[in-house]
Amino acid sequence: MTGDRDVLVFYDERMLQHRPEAEEPFLPGRMNSRVRGILDGLGLGVQAKWSYPEHPGRVTAVHDLLRAEPIPGVRLVPGEKATLEQLQRVHTTSYIESLHELEGQQAWLDIDTTAISAGSIEAAEVAAGSVIAAVDAVFEGQSDSAFVICRPPGHHANAVRARGFCLFNNIAVGAAHAQAHWDAERVLIVDWDAHHGNGTQDIFAADPSVMFFDTHRAAPFYPGTGQLDEVGEGLGEGTTVNVPLPGDAGDRAMIMAFETILVPAVEWFKPDLILVSAGMDAHITELCMAMTYDGYSTLTGILQRLADTYCHGRLVMALEGGYNPDTLARCTRATLEVMAGGEPVEPREPGMAEVAEIADFHNSAFADSE
Ligand SMILES: [Zn+2]
Repeated sequence: MTGDRDVLVFYDERMLQHRPEAEEPFLPGRMNSRVRGILDGLGLGVQAKWSYPEHPGRVTAVHDLLRAEPIPGVRLVPGEKATLEQLQRVHTTSYIESLHELEGQQAWLDIDTTAISAGSIEAAEVAAGSVIAAVDAVFEGQSDSAFVICRPPGHHANAVRARGFCLFNNIAVGAAHAQAHWDAERVLIVDWDAHHGNGTQDIFAADPSVMFFDTHRAAPFYPGTGQLDEVGEGLGEGTTVNVPLPGDAGDRAMIMAFETILVPAVEWFKPDLILVSAGMDAHITELCMAMTYDGYSTLTGILQRLADTYCHGRLVMALEGGYNPDTLARCTRATLEVMAGGEPVEPREPGMAEVAEIADFHNSAFADSE
């Protein structure tokens, strides 16, 4: 039951200091004049003002819900900053240095939706470092599993480039740490975010010791990668598993993908640790895919079962996307309940129970009165 297992949840206010604004100038400068020129040409004016969707309110919503409705067994702890050495296992030195040179500035790094503000580089270091702290926690036995409420997210960033709101690839940094520091031979990364984890795939494409399993909405949906035939490269051929799905795929499709593709892959791969890029934007309110809270609950049950079978229960999740703060918080809470030992909730057809109750209410009005 809920509370039977200990779950550490990492949350750190330094990650709130990443506050990009849509009006910031693009780097390099010529990009700014080009992009602004295109935007001006569209004549959108102030009505189409766009605000940066990856904002601090996302993670404060999760934190506030866990405070208001605590889960037995779940403990909130502060995060840690990744060191240069820990980041260098995944990112090039020149990329890390170029981010540090921008410390304190506000700018768009990339035309691909990634901007920074004064506190962004430290926030990104804490996001990646907290995944490392979560990996340490499960290997040291401080907790059965761990969840990192991190931002900026990570799965679109590769070794040399910030993309899709991501600066450092948090989950990749965690996987590399598990291998370098804890001698984990094989690490499984599951990415259930609605967007393909293109950065994570790039980083481990040729590495047979890291299996990458990704369910996502198929191209041309952002970032446009994750086709079926992207199965890894070189020595890593066979350890990249992509499951591209239509936008109306929901709980049943996702559960079937996990049970019929992930489970046999894991039986073959036998990981020492399971990491999850736990974006919550496949929830139906995000308009990307059509999952419900119960779907997240059931998927977590499958992952916990696999972790118990192959990895002494070692399961670490890190937040990726999810832009509706209320549903992001509810999806995270549903996930944590199962990690804490709760029984997974079977998805139901949404609205059926409500219709049954409403039918009882109305039908009396249509019955003969005698
Ligand atoms: Zn996403």
